[in-house]
Amino acid sequence: MKRAKKEKCGSKSTCASSADGRENSLDEFLENQALRDRMSRIRNKLLVMSGKGGVGKSTVAVNLAVELASRGLRVGLLDADFHGPSIAGLLGLEEHKLTGDENGLDPVRFAFARKAVIKVMSIGFLLNRRDEAVIWRGPMKMGAIKQFLRDVDWGELDYLIIDSPPGTGDEPLSVCQILEGLTGAVIVTTPQKIAVDDVRKSITFCRQLKTKVLGVIENMSGLVCPKCGEHIDVFSTGGGELMAREMGVPFLGRIPMDPRVVASGDSGAPIVITAPDSDVSKSYAVLAEPLLIFADHHKENNAKERSTTVNRKIAVPTADGKLCMHFGHCDIFTLFDVSGSGIVESRTVTPPPHEPGVIPKWLNSLGATHIIAGGMGARAQDFFRQFGIEVVVGAPPLPPEEVVRQYLAGTLEAGENVCDH
Ligand code: ADP
Repeated sequence: MKRAKKEKCGSKSTCASSADGRENSLDEFLENQALRDRMSRIRNKLLVMSGKGGVGKSTVAVNLAVELASRGLRVGLLDADFHGPSIAGLLGLEEHKLTGDENGLDPVRFAFARKAVIKVMSIGFLLNRRDEAVIWRGPMKMGAIKQFLRDVDWGELDYLIIDSPPGTGDEPLSVCQILEGLTGAVIVTTPQKIAVDDVRKSITFCRQLKTKVLGVIENMSGLVCPKCGEHIDVFSTGGGELMAREMGVPFLGRIPMDPRVVASGDSGAPIVITAPDSDVSKSYAVLAEPLLIFADHHKENNAKERSTTVNRKIAVPTADGKLCMHFGHCDIFTLFDVSGSGIVESRTVTPPPHEPGVIPKWLNSLGATHIIAGGMGARAQDFFRQFGIEVVVGAPPLPPEEVVRQYLAGTLEAGENVCDH
């Protein structure tokens, strides 16, 4: 998988930065920055967990993703179950091979009804054979999950649903530790005591890691006999709801048993698509509802973002809400996504510690195409140009948005290149 590009060092024997480890820390900084940058485009990250295997966690993750995507939300689905990746199979995507470019690995697209698409990534896509076993230890899994989050070109998403393996092991731990902005966890259980007891551990685990429990789903909650219509409580019902109440976490709802869930999963077409009128599908519609509050304003934003293509990224060194004249020493940069002559979005980013050549490399990793600065020495300008970043100097100390507006309107009055170096 792709990593942040490494700058070549001219002389290994004389290179102080590699000898004292500073290059490593810059690489680490850039990788973490790339992860934060990638994740900042995903509004909500939901971890789907269960205390036990076989309770329907992956099935719930897939059908929940379909339910959210069918409402016009942009959804990604990451299969983080390295030992039993099943998402590709549940969506009929096993034969897909991964491709990628300089923006990262392309997720596989599961398209259905009226342009609804789910972006899917799974370790399963990297395995040569379906029965291949992955023997990875804890730190390797942590690294792989980080790469799946950072190096996959997820683009803008309303939800990333992460299907973690059962229990409270390395994978959910990694996701909770890596993702600073995890929205929360959805915990799937079946109603019988033996499953519910394990879910308590998942809730305690989330609490220890300060991960919000968004709610508990009780799957396989009763069966309506397809022949006589009689309701049979195979695993009893209500255990999940009772436990959620006792533990003080929300209960999202029950999903009944239905043999069509198994058939749909086996054929690679989720039941929410194949039998939208079934009780199971109706349950998904109900339990997705409380999760929608996290997608505030998604419709307006979707429309706005889809109608624009970002073709320039302009960086402005910023201090005290204005363009900072000494770009190498400013605390933050404001980064503007520009489409044509309009600003689409802006955000502030914190640069790595100042060293010659570091900021151009860092801004390049963020996709910057232009920097507008007050003053800048010739050497620094050369560094930026080496990375293909256009340099505008002599800009006045105005609020960064005003600077960019004037630049885009062609009215920015660039004065002298006042550099403190
Ligand atoms: P997990 O991810 O928890 O191991 P899976 O999603 O793989 O569980 O589901 C285990 C099995 O249970 C699958 O065969 C799936 O089709 C079936 N299953 C899941 N939910 C239901 C349901 N509501 N009714 C009937 N079968 C179900």
